[in-house]
Formats: sequence, C-alpha cells, structure tokens
Amino acid sequence: MDDKKLVDEILKLKKEKNASILAHNYQSEEIQLIADHLGDSLELARISSDLNNDVIVFCGVSFMAESAKVLSPEKVILHPVREARCPMADMINAKKVRELRKKYPKATFVAYINTNVETKMEIDVVCTSANAVDIVRKIPNDRIVFLPDKNLGRFVKDQVPEKDVVLYDGYCYVHDDLDKDQLLKLKEKYHDAITLTHPEANEEVSNLSDHLLGTGGMLKFVKNSKNKRFIIGTEEGMIQRLARENPNKEFFATQSRIICKDMKKITLNNVYNSLKNNRYEIKLSEEIIKKAEKPLEMMLKYSHD
Ligand code: SF4
Repeated sequence: MDDKKLVDEILKLKKEKNASILAHNYQSEEIQLIADHLGDSLELARISSDLNNDVIVFCGVSFMAESAKVLSPEKVILHPVREARCPMADMINAKKVRELRKKYPKATFVAYINTNVETKMEIDVVCTSANAVDIVRKIPNDRIVFLPDKNLGRFVKDQVPEKDVVLYDGYCYVHDDLDKDQLLKLKEKYHDAITLTHPEANEEVSNLSDHLLGTGGMLKFVKNSKNKRFIIGTEEGMIQRLARENPNKEFFATQSRIICKDMKKITLNNVYNSLKNNRYEIKLSEEIIKKAEKPLEMMLKYSHD
C-alpha cells in the first residue's frame, strides 16, 4: 500500500474502533501528521486518561505506553512496535533500585518518567524534565537518589545545592552524544540565535546553551519569544514540529541527524497493523498498576503543592 492509501485506511480503522492516535514529539513527521495528539510523555499519559476513546494507539517508546496504561487502566492501549524501547529506561531495573535502597536506606528515590513500569513500582516519586528541580526541592528529605539520567540529575543537583543528590550513571545516548564543537560553530554563525537544549544533554553542551528545557518547555519558549532564530539541541522530530508550528522563525539543529532510533521504529505501516490487528496491547496486572501509580500520584501532589 502506498502512504496515501495507508493514511486513508488508518483514518477508517480509527473511526471504526473509536481509537485515538497519540504521538511523542520525537516521532517521525509522517506519524506526527496523522496523530490526534502530540506531546511529551507526561502530557500524552494525561491526555490518554482524559479521552473518551476505547482504544489508544501510542506512538512512542514502551515506557510511555505503559504510563498511559497505568493512568487509564480501563482503555485498550496499543503500542505498535514492541521493540521500540528507551535504552536509558533499560539502564535501571527493579533489582538495581532495591540494591540502591540498601545502600541509601534513608534517601527518597526520585525517578525520571523515562523508566519502565517495574522501576516505577520501586521508587517514591516520578518527575519529568520540566518539574524535576521543583519536586526535588519540595521533598521533605535532604538526601535524594536520582534515577536514571546523570545529566538531568546533574542539572537538578546544581539547582538544588542545599540537598545531597546521589546520581546514577544512566544517560540518553541521543542527547549525551551532542557535540560541543559543532554547537560552538553554529553559535558563531548565528550569533543572534537562542540555544535551547534538552537537560538530558552532556555537561559541555548544557553549559553552552541559553536554556535547558524539555520539549513542552521549548514549544512554549519559542512561541512566546520575539527572537526569530533558535539553535535546538534535541531530537529531530521535535525540531520538525517547532518549524511546522512556527513558520516565521528559523531553527537549526545543533548538529545534523539527531535521531532516537527507537522512536523511529514506528511507521505508518505498523500503525495500520496495530489498529487492524490490535497489536500490541499493553497488559498490566492490577497490582502493578497500583504500585506504579503511587509515584506518579506523588509527582502530581508535589506539582500542585
Ligand atoms: S530520546 Fe533518549 S530518552 Fe528519549 S526515548 Fe530515545 S533514548 Fe530514550
């Protein structure tokens, strides 16, 4: 089937099944364009619980589809490609958290939302790149173990120096590999541009950036800024979205082809197969949902306090 036919079939199946397609900002443009909702992982998990659809096709990596299931257990959540996983989320697991608990028995364990459900079941509070600093500041404990991203953890540690924040050695290869020399060259060429980088970036690139923001923060910043040029240090799908939604502004990636290979495993063809054959449904037991829900609820509690 060609792409046009595939899109038509997807739209038809969506209607028949009362389904909605949710796509992360790092999805390829062909997926972004058929999505009913685009966003970061938390935004999408929240949207999925507000929707009245019976079926959600979640185009992102597996922990995101799991979070959607935890927040809306009554819905059928489909993840088109099982193998689309986040390598950073896979750097930590329940066993490793339990070992760390023995080492730091009095610490509060905070984990980035980019963790698998089995890890979430073992930790105290979830955070996102947007609320990590705020949450760590509000937790009534001076000792925090921050998992799994060392770069976001370092950013939090710098912003909350009054607390003892223990870091883990996890990282996102996409942002950790950003190259400072290429960024320096771009900054020299476009000296009027504002550099926005994801806090998962390595220390050198972070230090050269004007602002460290998650994808939602970047969208807001660009929309409200009078500046016309931006250098962006994050995945290519997000840069495509920024360019599409801000046609009067210019965007330059800190380097060519910043790509998360797992995000790109989802294609029109497998979204079609997912809808047609109910593939692959996320199934979590009641016990798992209950345990994984707790740290997510704690995040919401601290976000509202
Ligand atoms: S961009 Fe990084 S953190 Fe996000 S899914 Fe890919 S590897 Fe994981």
